[in-house]
Amino acid sequence: MSSLEQRKRLKAYYQRTNALFAEWRERGYRYPPPRSEPMPGDLRRLQCGAKTKAGTACKQIAIYINSRCKWHGGCSTGPKTEAGKQRSAMNGFCRKKAKSYRWIKL
Ligand SMILES: [Zn+2]
Repeated sequence: MSSLEQRKRLKAYYQRTNALFAEWRERGYRYPPPRSEPMPGDLRRLQCGAKTKAGTACKQIAIYINSRCKWHGGCSTGPKTEAGKQRSAMNGFCRKKAKSYRWIKL
């Protein structure tokens, strides 16, 4: 089986599992929690596979839904929603919010 097909199956698996837990969140985390299907055996030690500076393939096995590791996932593409864009445009212009020191016993 090709690596590309495995990565597609891994993404589909993560999406199914995330949908299960999103549905549980909608239920207000009420008991019982959902039982996610077991991860298929051939997807368990799937490697990142990105090209490193040395020219070899990355061998990290801790990969995200995009099937890349934390170093090769790519940069953030920025805010998507209009509210997020407005929030990010205000960076550097707003005063810092007052910190909460409730955890300090006086
Ligand atoms: Zn990697």
